[in-house]
Amino acid sequence: MHDVLPAEMHLWHALERAVRGTFESYGFEEIRVPVLEKTELFARAIGDATDVVEKEMYTFEDRNGDLLSLRPEGTAGVVRAVLQNGLLYGAPLRLWYMGPMFRRERPQKGRTRQFHQIGAEVFGAAGPDVDAELLAMCHRTWQRLGLKPLRLEVNTLGTASERAAYRDDLRDFLAAREGELDEDSRRRLERNPLRILDSKNPDMQSVLRDAPLLSAYLGPESLAHFDGFRHLLERFGLDYTVNPRLVRGLDYYSHTVFEWITDALGAQGTVCAGGRYDGLVEIQGGRPWPGIGFAMGQERLVELMRLQAQTAAEPPHLYLVLVGEGVAERGLELAESLRSALPGLRLHANLGGGSFKVQFKRADRSGAALALVLGEDELRRGEVTIKPLREDAGQQQLALEELVGWLQNWLNNSRR
Ligand code: ATP
Ligand code: MG
Repeated sequence: MHDVLPAEMHLWHALERAVRGTFESYGFEEIRVPVLEKTELFARAIGDATDVVEKEMYTFEDRNGDLLSLRPEGTAGVVRAVLQNGLLYGAPLRLWYMGPMFRRERPQKGRTRQFHQIGAEVFGAAGPDVDAELLAMCHRTWQRLGLKPLRLEVNTLGTASERAAYRDDLRDFLAAREGELDEDSRRRLERNPLRILDSKNPDMQSVLRDAPLLSAYLGPESLAHFDGFRHLLERFGLDYTVNPRLVRGLDYYSHTVFEWITDALGAQGTVCAGGRYDGLVEIQGGRPWPGIGFAMGQERLVELMRLQAQTAAEPPHLYLVLVGEGVAERGLELAESLRSALPGLRLHANLGGGSFKVQFKRADRSGAALALVLGEDELRRGEVTIKPLREDAGQQQLALEELVGWLQNWLNNSRR
C-alpha cells in the first residue's frame, strides 16, 4: 500500500478532472459507496471460485460476528446501493465512481494491495449501442489526457448457459492434458477453467493453442450482439482486435468484455477493463436488469501520464517575501486582500521569518513565477517590490493600491 505524495498529485488531479469532464458530458453521475461491505456481497457477486474472493480479500470479523471485507472492486457495492436506494426506477442509469480498492496480491510493478479505480456502470440498457458508447467514452478520456493510442481488445463471453456448455468441453480438453498444466491452472481446472485462458504463462498459451473456442458455442442472439457492438466501434473509428482468449477475472461477466492495454508499462499493461454483466443485479436479489461497466486502474494511468503526457504541476504565481519589524503581520493581511480580489491567484506567503537570502531561496524552491517583496522600506513608502524569478527581467516598485490591477493584468497576459 502506497502513499500518494504531493509531487505526483497534479497527475492524479489531471486524471480525475479529465474523467469527470468526459463522463459528465456523456450523462454519467457520480456515486460514492462505502469501502467496507459484508463479505457475502463480494462472494456472491464476484464468485467463490475467483482469485479475488478465494485469496485476495481483506476480511475480518466485526464485533457482532458479521464478516466484513474491504472492497476489492467497485461494481458489487454500486449494485447493492442501486438496489437498496431504488435507483433503477430512473433506468437507464449511468453512474461513475472513484476510490480505493484492496486486494491481497503479490506486490510488484503495477500491482499494489491498495490501488485506486475509476469506474463507470450503466444499468437498464441491453443493446450493444451502450457497449460501444462506453468505449468511445474511454477513448475520449485517453485523448483528453494526451496519451498515445492504447490497444483495445474485445471479446464476447455469450450467456451463462452458452458458457456452461463451453466450460465443460474446455475442462475435458484441459483435463486430458493435465500433466502439461502449471500449478495455478491445475487449481483452476475444476472450479474455473475459463480463467486458464488468460494465464500469463507462455507454456499455458501453447497448451491452449488447439483448445475449443467459446465463439463456436454462441447462439444467434449472442453473435448478433457482438456484431452490433463491433459495427458501432467501426462507425466510431475505434481500432480494436478480437482476442478470443480474453476472459475476465470476475464471474459476473456476459457478452461483451474488453481491455485497454499499453506496452509502455511492462507486464501489467491493462489500464482499463470491463464488460457486460447482465446477470449481476439478479444475483444480488433484484429483478433481472442488464448492466455493463468498466474500471480503470488509476496508478497505472498516472504512470502512463508521467511517461507520455505533458501534464505539469501548477506552481504558485507569487511568493510573498516578508522581512523586517512588523512586516509579517501587514504582509499576511495583504495576502488575504489579494486572495479576495483575485480568486484564481496561487500565493505562498512566507512563514517563519528568515533573512532575505533565506526567503528568496524558499521562493525559488516553491517554483513561483514572481516574488513580491515587502520590507520595512516598502512598508514606509506604501509600496511593494516585484521581482520576476523565472526570467531575466528587472525588479520594479509599485504603489500598494496599484498592485491588484497590475497582478490582474499580469495574470491575463500570461493566461496563468
Ligand atoms: P489483472 O489481470 O491485471 O489482475 P484484473 O482482472 O484483476 O486484472 P480488474 O479487476 O478488471 O483487474 O481491475 C481493473 C483495472 O484495475 C486493471 O486493469 C488494473 O488497471 C487495475 N488493477 C487491478 N488490480 C490492481 C492492483 N492490484 N494494483 C494496481 N492496479 C490494479
Ligand atoms: Mg487481478
